[in-house]
Amino acid sequence: MDVINPATGERVDSYDEHTQSEVETALEDATSAFEEWRRRPLREREDLLAAAGDVLRENKGEYAETMTEEMGKPIEQAVSEVEKCAWACDHYAEHASSYLEADHHPSPPGTTAKTVYEPLGPVLAVMPWNFPFWQVFRFAAPYLTAGNVGFLKHASNVPGCALAIEEVFREAGYPEGVFRSLLISSDEIEDLLGDERVRAATLTGSGGAGRAIASTAGENLKKTVLELGGSDPYVVLDDADLEAAATTGAWARNQNGGQSCIAAKRFVVVDEVYDEFVDRFVDAVDSLAVGDPMDEETDMGPQARQDLLDELHEQVEASVEAGATVETGGEPLDREGAYYPPTVLTDVPEGSPADTEELFGPVAAVYRVGGESEAIEKANDTEFGLGASLWTTDLDRAERLATEVEAGCVYVNELVKSDPRVPFGGIKESGYGRELSADGIKEFTNRKTVWLT
Ligand code: NDP
Repeated sequence: MDVINPATGERVDSYDEHTQSEVETALEDATSAFEEWRRRPLREREDLLAAAGDVLRENKGEYAETMTEEMGKPIEQAVSEVEKCAWACDHYAEHASSYLEADHHPSPPGTTAKTVYEPLGPVLAVMPWNFPFWQVFRFAAPYLTAGNVGFLKHASNVPGCALAIEEVFREAGYPEGVFRSLLISSDEIEDLLGDERVRAATLTGSGGAGRAIASTAGENLKKTVLELGGSDPYVVLDDADLEAAATTGAWARNQNGGQSCIAAKRFVVVDEVYDEFVDRFVDAVDSLAVGDPMDEETDMGPQARQDLLDELHEQVEASVEAGATVETGGEPLDREGAYYPPTVLTDVPEGSPADTEELFGPVAAVYRVGGESEAIEKANDTEFGLGASLWTTDLDRAERLATEVEAGCVYVNELVKSDPRVPFGGIKESGYGRELSADGIKEFTNRKTVWLT
């Protein structure tokens, strides 16, 4: 596995893939580790997770550099990502016991009926490169603490991150076999998921990868959680704080190089404030500093891979050919590395790629709509349903409209984000299941009914 630094296009590292016999050893280790791990008192698993949080904090500079080198994330955002992982560890170290407390049910006098939450076993996690640490900790912190053991098949362009994460758990004192990173290609996933020792799978990534995992898991009757793409609407109503909406919107679209499933992608703005919003938004987008991701002043580095930039630019070109107007950006930057500028498109025609597909990079599509109901109609006019952001100063109106939005979450006067305290996940083609919070930790548990008389 070659690591190409997207800021320079140069190969900076190379890793050998794990052989079939190494994968077999990992499966055997995981199976025996599970028998001991699931019987450990939950308090001990929580303590180990807290230790993992400490390891993350101690080494955050080093891990951040690995991320930035492998996928081009600006270094400040990489450091924040490691800190967020440590926060997720702290969160589940503190709350796992209460999240997994038995639920008691009505039952006849003299009997007790309850649900207890038990782990399922080895869980396979297939993860993407865009948040190479956070996506992994979002699954590992809750699922391991619930008593499962985990295999990580990370994206092929971030093997250094995959191995660094394995090291975090080792350094924190986790027993061998509880968490393993497998450097394998996606062709090998079908066999791995078909293996009876793997009990469930979670994937964050594209719809294509999600379908492949879901279909293999379906054949084998295994539970999956899928967190796929999004084309989140960012709705700006007539009574919105336009300056806040514009500056937050520029960040919501462009942080992490625009490569986020919950980035704001379609800006739906009512006619009364459209012109003013677009002016402010384009100014805010143009003020972002694009450059070397190792520089602490940089807001946006390169795209993670050249092929992803090429695909994004094809989507922009096809949208412009169909009639979209480029307000800013729109051409790859003429410099070394996979750099694409923050781009704003208006007059986006219905059915063009910017309208119907996920644009996984710094390209915003802005729409003018007549009013509130047209705004909601446009917000829902997508095959995706991950998040949505609503901008209005009237919170009653916001709550009423939130019930009309087809998405897994609605953030009012705020960008969409994942937070360990609240459930995260989508509907429609954005996937199913929930990560984080109490919901997340229970996804890969056996909800066992125990009836005592
Ligand atoms: P992929 O969905 O291809 O990659 C995500 C993960 O899935 C990687 O670990 C990848 O492994 C694995 N994978 C790929 N194909 C399969 C398969 N058939 N069966 C099992 N696992 C598979 O994303 P890309 O990196 O190619 O990015 C393409 C697009 O996906 C983006 O433009 C974006 O639209 C979407 N995406 C969404 C993300 C999100 O956060 N929801 C994150 C990343 C991408 P390997 O790297 O070895 O191919």
